[in-house]
Amino acid sequence: MKTRSTRAGPDHYNWKGGMTKHRGYWIHCSGPHKGKPAHVVVAEQALGRPLPPRAVVHHVDTNGDNNAPSNLVICESRAYHALLHKRMRALAACGDASALRCHRCKGYDRQDEMMLYVGQPAHRSCAAKFHRDRRYHAKRQGVQS
Ligand SMILES: [Zn+2]
Ligand SMILES: [Zn+2]
Repeated sequence: MKTRSTRAGPDHYNWKGGMTKHRGYWIHCSGPHKGKPAHVVVAEQALGRPLPPRAVVHHVDTNGDNNAPSNLVICESRAYHALLHKRMRALAACGDASALRCHRCKGYDRQDEMMLYVGQPAHRSCAAKFHRDRRYHAKRQGVQS
């Protein structure tokens, strides 16, 4: 008969027994979930089935220790997860999640302040400056542009 308390038993997200920390995440080192990261187990329990093969579990507060179900978001792919982090960085940097990072000055700005320069987002002014610099260096090396 199962007598586990739902508050302190192994099924509770905060239960640290039987786990080891690896790269900032808790991994089950014994029991039925052996070898699985704790956040994956929590996400699968919340989902009610195994995660899709390419899914990635994201920690909303970026704290790998916080495996509360409300802190976990299941991302369908690594690309989606990367996008989430990109938007979080933009949000933290300038308060706008859809802001872009300038490839030249590394600063963030609203999308309408940016243009694509050689396939990368850049401020119009940064792109213009880079363009001038390139022409300048090309001239110095005796290359006609
Ligand atoms: Zn993440
Ligand atoms: Zn810039």
